Amino acid sequence: MKPKTCIECHEEFTKKKIQRIKINGKKQWMCVFCKRKRRDKKRDILLHTVGGVRRKEDIINEAKEKSKRIFSFQRVKRAIFPSIKSVRPKKRVSVLGMYLTREEKQILFKKYLSNGLNPEEADKKVKERVGFLLNLIQKLRAEKKSEGEINKRFKEEFAKLCEKE
Ligand SMILES: [Zn+2]
Repeated sequence: MKPKTCIECHEEFTKKKIQRIKINGKKQWMCVFCKRKRRDKKRDILLHTVGGVRRKEDIINEAKEKSKRIFSFQRVKRAIFPSIKSVRPKKRVSVLGMYLTREEKQILFKKYLSNGLNPEEADKKVKERVGFLLNLIQKLRAEKKSEGEINKRFKEEFAKLCEKE
């Protein structure tokens, strides 16, 4: 027998080292080394998908994908809410733990946008509302209300802001 070329590594082998196998319904020559590699790979995939054994490589890739997705999501978010960009968590207005998170501000922001305000006006209004809530807290503190009570009022007022207007 003339030496045959392996479809995988493109090296020539004689009969003992090369075999005909079916790949996608077509008969091809493959050397025993490539065949072994192919079998190991298949087994690995099988283990991974059927056996539930997660390869380290896959876990790393998955984490990479995830962080890529989060990154692009944040980029899209910034593109949609350009004016809220300045509202970073580190800049959040905090009064002893009572503040609106970035997400909460965005809820208000989106609401004002859907009410027909432009982003600048909506951002201004969010700031006004944050100011209103802070004033409320200060007022309640001056009235010597308990922190639990103040926190409850704060949440109620925020819920109201999300509903009305
Ligand atoms: Zn080969």
